[in-house]
Amino acid sequence: MSGRYGTSRKIVWCPGCGNFAILTAFKNALANLGLKPEKVVAVSGIGCHGRITDYLNVNGFHTIHGRVLPLATGIKLANPELVVVGFAGDGDAYAIGIGHLPHAARRNVDITYIVHDNMVFGLTTGQFTPTTPYGMRTRSSPRGTYEEPINPILFALSIGASFVARGFAGDVKHLTYLIEEAIKHRGFAFIDVLQPCVTFYNTYAYYRQRVYKLEDEGHDYTSSEEALRKAREWGDKIPIGIFYKASKPTFSDRKLKDKDPPVHVKPVNIAKLYKPFM
Ligand code: SF4
Repeated sequence: MSGRYGTSRKIVWCPGCGNFAILTAFKNALANLGLKPEKVVAVSGIGCHGRITDYLNVNGFHTIHGRVLPLATGIKLANPELVVVGFAGDGDAYAIGIGHLPHAARRNVDITYIVHDNMVFGLTTGQFTPTTPYGMRTRSSPRGTYEEPINPILFALSIGASFVARGFAGDVKHLTYLIEEAIKHRGFAFIDVLQPCVTFYNTYAYYRQRVYKLEDEGHDYTSSEEALRKAREWGDKIPIGIFYKASKPTFSDRKLKDKDPPVHVKPVNIAKLYKPFM
């Protein structure tokens, strides 16, 4: 069933790239949820991940660097009946586009945001990003990076995201489950995916030895304190799964109280709209 969500475009990611797993998991999740392709919108940014919209048979928007969230937000607010999912790389999400993340989270816009976090700029041949480990040598840091990496899970929790999860591209079944839960969640759902870049930073073996599932340890994702404690865990053990989930009003829930209907059900007078500019 997940085949109906794919296209015949030749996939040009490097063989073994973690992007394949994210693409497969997303298609599986759509199939498991029984979503019609015409009801789904995928928005991607700039980077290797950005090609995902070419490989998905759903509505797609390949936008400019770091601007996935404003696009996804606008689409969802204009037509709340659509399922809107944004895809970004770690450079796209945490460098160029990081300014949009707190606002999407605090508005609790009902969208899903999936970050392909391979810890390098893969498309431009492996420069360091905000999640590159301290001291790592890359083409743009031949003596090693001088900066501490950010912790995306801790960051997402601190800005009030109502669904915060981490997946691993080496476990498609688990990632499918996370994407399904994120889409079903009413509100801003954030998933940081540990996505090895086999060409510039191949971390499959590293993660396989360390990742474990939060649900196997009975993690209570309704507790923000527990979520914060688990978010700080990194090293010999790396948790994946849902760190935090909370139910709260979405941006549209609050906005609709002022009786202002979404754009797609409002008649639009184009001539009136353009008049001030003529
Ligand atoms: Fe994937 Fe890295 Fe190749 Fe880009 S450069 S397609 S992230 S393996």
